[in-house]
Amino acid sequence: MTTNDELFRRGQRRIPGGVNSPVRAFRSVGGSPYVVASAEGARVWDVEGTEYIDYVQSYGASILGHAHPVVVDAIRTAAGRGTTYGAPTEGEIRLAEELCDRVPGLEQVRLVSSGTEASMSAIRLARGVTGRDRIVKFQGDYHGHSDALLAGAGSGVAEGALLSGSSPDSAGVTAAAVADTVVLPHNVVPTLDETVAVVCVEPVAANMGLVAPVAGFLEGLRSECDRVGALLLFDEVISGFRLAVGGATETTGITPDLWCFGKVIGGGLPVGAFGGSAATMSHLAPQGDVYQAGTLSGNPLATAAGLAVLGELHPEAHNRLDATATVLADGLAKAFADAGVAARIPRVGPLFGIFFGDGADPVDFDTASASVALGRYPAFFHGMLERGIAFAPGPYEVAFPSWLMVRQRSTPPWRQRRQWRATWRTPEVSPSVTPTGGAG
Ligand code: PLP
Repeated sequence: MTTNDELFRRGQRRIPGGVNSPVRAFRSVGGSPYVVASAEGARVWDVEGTEYIDYVQSYGASILGHAHPVVVDAIRTAAGRGTTYGAPTEGEIRLAEELCDRVPGLEQVRLVSSGTEASMSAIRLARGVTGRDRIVKFQGDYHGHSDALLAGAGSGVAEGALLSGSSPDSAGVTAAAVADTVVLPHNVVPTLDETVAVVCVEPVAANMGLVAPVAGFLEGLRSECDRVGALLLFDEVISGFRLAVGGATETTGITPDLWCFGKVIGGGLPVGAFGGSAATMSHLAPQGDVYQAGTLSGNPLATAAGLAVLGELHPEAHNRLDATATVLADGLAKAFADAGVAARIPRVGPLFGIFFGDGADPVDFDTASASVALGRYPAFFHGMLERGIAFAPGPYEVAFPSWLMVRQRSTPPWRQRRQWRATWRTPEVSPSVTPTGGAG
């Protein structure tokens, strides 16, 4: 049998660090990764045949769970017609229509291939529309790895060092690339001026653990942007089509000028999107003078998979997703309390995070990183993994409960034509599991 360690060592010879995205390497929790062989529904299996209940779910890309038959069928059918053409397709038009129908205020989208590409392009658009250079982002918010946004970034970037100021987070990003990036504390409404093109925010921050917006934060951003003529960008790469049918725009009632999406809308295939009003989007080439392009943009497999996923995400589905996350978050909180481990489990809809230590839920990167600095996450992570439960191998990530699937005999009422549906069950966290993170 090939082992995880053998494969990981082999990978390290040809892939830097053995991984194609840094957080997968287990650097911040210690040890080496399990190598996935297959996945279905809520579970993944590694090459040694070990089964895990998976709360990573490709960091939120697989909202229906792995290998959902509706998604697999859609990809298979699309692949049979060719995988990419370099010409418009009906599928990309349908996906764009679907996104705009769901998100209040969204009139047009451009499809791209990742969340990074979406936010990078949205910033270029904002600068082109406003004729201004400066962008504002918040410490601990992550918007992908484009140069201008690698300042004060969360997720894997935050694991290496404490973030500070507006200096680059990465070697290779020049000071000039982030010179117009202003990094400010999350959840504090800044006073803007007329040099700011765009304010980028994760409306529900999910890359420094889970940090909900405090009352008045998003409202304050909206009115400050309006006051100085800056655009407000909601990065909904995680929250979009997850928190509700219309994402955080629906749940918060605040309408930004620009949106970024990713993950859910590709059904596990590479995809991203950015959008806004028709007037704003008209500045993009070929109509306008802001250039942006992509060979694989609007890829037929990704659009087919995304449409299949969105077809399952009706309001009742979101309610049930929330209910599952609630059971899981409450169960974890109780397990920690019973074990005498100080921890907080903030939850927003179907997302939850884990912060060790006492006190109120973190509201910004400083309070989130103070919890991470307690150093308890690695022991918790490995304790859970040994018991067959996979959380993300990084303390700044959140948990992504997904649909748990069972085969149904009857056809569900909301999708008469479908033979399958995803059905919620109580999350499969064994009540006998004792969290180990607080042992110090
Ligand atoms: N924006 C947010 C909020 C994200 O969480 C991520 C990735 O996790 C990105 C942007 C970048 O997306 P991608 O990894 O698809 O480039």
